[in-house]
Amino acid sequence: MIPFFHPAARPIKAVVDLGALADNLALARDLAEPAKVFAVVKANAYGHGLSRVLPALAAADGLALLELESAIYLRALGWRKPILLLEGFFDGSELPVMAEHGFATVVHHEAQVRALCAARLERRLDVFVKVNTGMNRLGLSAGRVAQTVSRLRGSDAVRTLTLMTHFASADEPDGLLEPMSLFRGVAERFDLPVSLANSAGVIRYQEVGGDVVRPGIMLYGSSPFATQAGTAARLGLKPVMSLCSRIIAVQSLAPGERVGYGGTYRAERHERIGIIACGYADGYPRHAPGGTPVQVAGERTRLVGRVSMDMMAVDLTGLPAVQVGAPVELWGTALPVDEVAACAGTIGYELLCAVTQRVPFEVTGLTP
Ligand SMILES: *Cc1c(COP(=O)(O)O)cnc(C)c1O
Repeated sequence: MIPFFHPAARPIKAVVDLGALADNLALARDLAEPAKVFAVVKANAYGHGLSRVLPALAAADGLALLELESAIYLRALGWRKPILLLEGFFDGSELPVMAEHGFATVVHHEAQVRALCAARLERRLDVFVKVNTGMNRLGLSAGRVAQTVSRLRGSDAVRTLTLMTHFASADEPDGLLEPMSLFRGVAERFDLPVSLANSAGVIRYQEVGGDVVRPGIMLYGSSPFATQAGTAARLGLKPVMSLCSRIIAVQSLAPGERVGYGGTYRAERHERIGIIACGYADGYPRHAPGGTPVQVAGERTRLVGRVSMDMMAVDLTGLPAVQVGAPVELWGTALPVDEVAACAGTIGYELLCAVTQRVPFEVTGLTP
């Protein structure tokens, strides 16, 4: 028998606002008009949960990710539109599976070109030929593209071809100049559709253009421009995930008393400290330093001492009304994830992806 447990015993939860996600998708579409929008849902939809977010992405023209098993799961969930595998296949044995499910594949390496040209498939694949424009991670060098395109055009395994690239520095003001001119030099030799833009490229669509765009992080309400505080809100992006918990204990410290492991925080005066049910085992970054903002009962306060596995402490000295049970937002609608990430020396992407299995999720914002 399954033991009974209260569904939300520990007060932490991640609330996913599907209305905000749908609105962010609509914004991406407006910015990149008339391009097709392939919503990027890799890494379990940036930590939000594939099946959870799918209803909010109904308006996307396609989905893009790189985990084959998740792509198959999307078909099982009923997604019939294109699914693009962003790293393609890792072994030729995946090709029949991809053909069976009608997946589109990136081809970024000679080994993949060879495998594809040798394959006998029950259905042809839509292929995105990836050009390396300076990221030097994946992609064919510009000089190899012409020969590759002509081989793929002659292959029985290929239905359509699209040229694509992924920019290393689309979030930097001058980051597009060199790669764009390199890519244009390649693309102008063919009459093929192109796909260039991630979120940063969608936001800069006037400079980047393209027939298919691939926004990821912006859909989840976080900004690809990590160094510019407040960008997400300025762009009109709405936070999708709120990581919420509660105060589970309040401590009174005398001057000189310390908080948490290692006693790294020491009270200067009489202080009130709140203990929150959230720690690094929930995905909150352990390296977030004292001073990182935390929203308690609708007010900003600050983290004090070390984040531990299950708990963290905040300063409640200026919030005398806050008691055990008070609501806490670690990031979300009142406190942008990008701001917390900047304090913790990382980016919103990492925090969103890192929320762990033990955190229960709740969905709001999209009434069927
Ligand atoms: C992850 C990824 C994207 C989306 O990037 P964001 O910065 O999250 O918008 C687009 N294209 C490729 C190839 C990717 O791997």
